[in-house]
Order: sequence, then C-alpha cells, then structure tokens
Amino acid sequence: MRTISIMGATGSVGTSTLDLVRRDPAGWRVVALSANCSAGELAALAREFGAEIAIVADESCLPELRDALAGSGVEAAGGERALIEAASRPVDVFVAAIVGCAGLAPTMAAIEQGGTIALANKEALVSAGEVMTAAVQRHGATLLPVDSEHNAIFQCLQGGRMSDVRWITLTASGGPFRNATMAELNAATPAQAVKHPNWSMGAKISVDSATMMNKGLEFIEAHHLFPVGLDRLRIIVHPQSIVHSMVEYRDGSTLAQLGPSDMRVPIASALAWPARMDTPCDPLDLAAIGTLEFRAPDETRFPATRLAREAASHGGAAPAVLNAANEIAVAAFLAGQIGFTRIAAMAEDMLQQGTLPPPPATLDEVLLVDSETRTRARALLQAA
Ligand code: NDP
Repeated sequence: MRTISIMGATGSVGTSTLDLVRRDPAGWRVVALSANCSAGELAALAREFGAEIAIVADESCLPELRDALAGSGVEAAGGERALIEAASRPVDVFVAAIVGCAGLAPTMAAIEQGGTIALANKEALVSAGEVMTAAVQRHGATLLPVDSEHNAIFQCLQGGRMSDVRWITLTASGGPFRNATMAELNAATPAQAVKHPNWSMGAKISVDSATMMNKGLEFIEAHHLFPVGLDRLRIIVHPQSIVHSMVEYRDGSTLAQLGPSDMRVPIASALAWPARMDTPCDPLDLAAIGTLEFRAPDETRFPATRLAREAASHGGAAPAVLNAANEIAVAAFLAGQIGFTRIAAMAEDMLQQGTLPPPPATLDEVLLVDSETRTRARALLQAA
C-alpha cells in the first residue's frame, strides 16, 4: 500500500486522480486532501477515502469544513500555513493539482520531503522555474509530469538521451476558437471559452486553452522539465488531441505518445511509474477517428505562445510576471470585466510595463514577483 496526498482534490485533475485511487482501495492510503473553499465536497471525499487531514486554503471556509467532518475522525484545517504543513507530511506520491501560482508554496514544501511529485500545477513550475528545479535536485525529489503533453514527452524520452533529441514538439488542440476570426475572438464570451471541444477541465485552464496561453505556459514548463534548449521546442496544432506530443531524435526517428483525451491516462502513468496500471478509459480506436490533422499555430490571432517564448528567452522574473498577469486577466474575463482578446494584450502590457523585477532566487522572491504583478495588473484593470 502506498500513501498519497492530493492538493486541489475537488478540481478536475483532483477528482480524476481520486477516481483512479477509488478503483484500487487496497493499493492506496490517502493522507491529505485539499480544496480552496469547496468544504462540503472536500469533506465528502475525505470521509470516503478516510483521509488523515482535509484542508481548505481559504480559512473563512474552515468552520463549514469542521461541521461537515464532525465525528469522522478526519482532521480539519484551514489557511495557507495549514496547507503547507499538510503538504510537508511525507507520502509516496504528492499530486500537485491546485490551479494557479497558489499551488507553488505547498508544492515546494512537498519537494523538500524528497518524495515523488506528480505535477499538474504548471503555473507553479512556470513561475518558480529554476528555483523549483534546483529544489528538486537538492532534495532528491522526483518530478513526474501529469500535464498530458509533458507526460507524453516524458514517456517518449524513456530510454533515449537528451543529447540525441532534435526536436520536442508539443501538440495543441487549438481550443474552441481555433477556426474563429478576429471579430469572433473579440466577441467571445466566457461560456464559449470554457467549452473545450476535446477535454473536460477547470475554468481557468479552459480559458488558457482558448487563448493558447495554456500552450505558452506548457512551452515554459517543457523548457524546465526537458532542458534541450528553447530552439528545440516547438508547438503544432493538432485538433483531435490524440497525439499528445512527440520527440524527434537526431537519426530522424520521431516517437509520439497517443491516447484518448482523458486525463486519467497521464495521471495513471505518473501514479504507477515506472510500472503501469489499469484505467477505465476507452481504448484508442484509430479507425473510428480516421484522420489526424496538424497545422502551424497562428500567432497573429493567438499571440500568447509568442509571449511565452519571449518570457522564456528573457528568463528571470519574466515567466512569473506572464503567469500572474494571465491569472488576473483570466479571472477578469471570467467575471465579465474584460474581453477575450484583452487577456493576452494585458499579459503583454505587463511584460513590457517598466523594467522587470530582478530574477527571483528563492521561493519568497518568486512569491513577491507574483504578488506585485497581481497588484499592478489589478491597477491596470481599474484604470481601464
Ligand atoms: P480546477 O479549477 O478544476 O480545480 C482546482 C483545484 O484547486 C480545486 O480543488 C480548487 O478548490 C483548488 N484551488 C483553487 N484555488 C485555490 C487557491 N487559491 N488555493 C488553494 N487551492 C485552490 O482546476 P484543474 O483541475 O482543471 O487544474 C488544476 C491544475 O492542473 C492547473 O494548474 C491546470 O493547469 C493543470 N492541468 C489541468 C488539466 C485538466 O484536464 N483539468 C490538464 C493538465 C494540467 P475549490 O474546489 O475549493 O475551488
């Protein structure tokens, strides 16, 4: 039996992970489960899985969690400190599935324990970059990518040598607006943006997919996970989301990982690695799918991937600024405060506004860049 903690347990990745754990009750003991404020849902999961502790990041939701867990024997806790304390409890697998940079500090706390981190929370790695990868090295932790593209690349690199890699190609579905005109993009609503054609995901990443910022963040994520150099990383649009990414070696061989558009496949790959486990996902029926299409990304309609490439080349604080600006812009779009195309424009404004902060060298410095950028981005929204 292995131990597991899942931060962001009530979300899309969190519940998909728990679906796999549920199918193998003898294989897992759940230590910690967290949410932001979905106290009722979190309590139900904590009871079902007999978790040691359940944590709500938003402390104002703790009374509701306590009530919902009364008599269950599950410890209830709230607030950021409690989240970090729970993330520090040693486990065999720590699943980082909080959305946004809010997941950074707990993920770093887990890395310090030197265990295995199944990382879905891309914003944490984008923001912290070298600070996180250095901590992984220092503490002897194992970082396993859960993001389907990075999990695919990770699988394609098994048995290969990084020095033999010619290209790493990230595939992108192109999101719900891949065929939209500029006028349609300008008029796009939150309801349209969160309706992803292939994947069922949380609201923030769905909007990121629609702007292609998701692929931009993944480009930076790939740069840290697979350091082949930025000029060897590229993006291709593949509307069917069947080929999850590819690695081309110097001899001209391209290895690709294919699978259904179901996050339980990459999650299972990370949970079982280096072994394999069963999933309830439908087998891939390529004859039924028939055609796999590929096309170059259009950075005129979707500038986010260009911004991410520029932020990655600049390095230092730029990726954390890009990420924080995007988080604020996406929240403003979802709240109806700004239009769809303003999301990437705002991220670009924030990257260009004044001088960038010095490169962050510690977790606290990354968090400072993040919070200062959020303050500046909110001011920009107010001024508009
Ligand atoms: P969801 O929005 O579905 O879930 C987010 C989870 O994080 C919920 O448990 C939520 O709690 C919690 N949470 C939200 N805000 C905070 C906060 N400020 N502090 C602590 N916890 C918080 O997100 P997804 O599952 O879609 O995505 C999670 C991460 O995985 C993201 O980084 C995303 O980019 C990445 N990812 C997701 C994929 C997917 O298919 N969904 C695919 C690949 C990567 P509550 O329920 O209380 O709001």
